[in-house]
Amino acid sequence: MKIREGDLVVVIAGEDKGPSPRRVVQVLDGGKKIRVEGVHQVKKHVRRGHPKSPQGGQLEIDLPIDSSNVLFYCGHCARGVRLGVKFTDDGGKVRVCKKCDTSVGTVGGRKANRPATVTG
Ligand SMILES: [Zn+2]
Repeated sequence: MKIREGDLVVVIAGEDKGPSPRRVVQVLDGGKKIRVEGVHQVKKHVRRGHPKSPQGGQLEIDLPIDSSNVLFYCGHCARGVRLGVKFTDDGGKVRVCKKCDTSVGTVGGRKANRPATVTG
């Protein structure tokens, strides 16, 4: 799955499906599950002192949904599309919209940002 945090997606299955693009808040489980703004929202009751609600009460949280229930939203096509991968001339990989062939960012570029693994 090539969806990443901050991408816009269209939800195509479940209670919250609809044509409008929504933002991906978090990618979990290696891309199998994602959290999308305003999708699969539940109210969680919390006590006073919760970091996100010091007075306590109800918090609205987005539960993860399966990433197969969304399509990447292509701004160029203005609809949900499937993504492909292409190699650039300099050996890099880019995500492309399968409808219009527009590049929507590189693949694998995030690896540099990962925390270094501790050895020894
Ligand atoms: Zn497109």
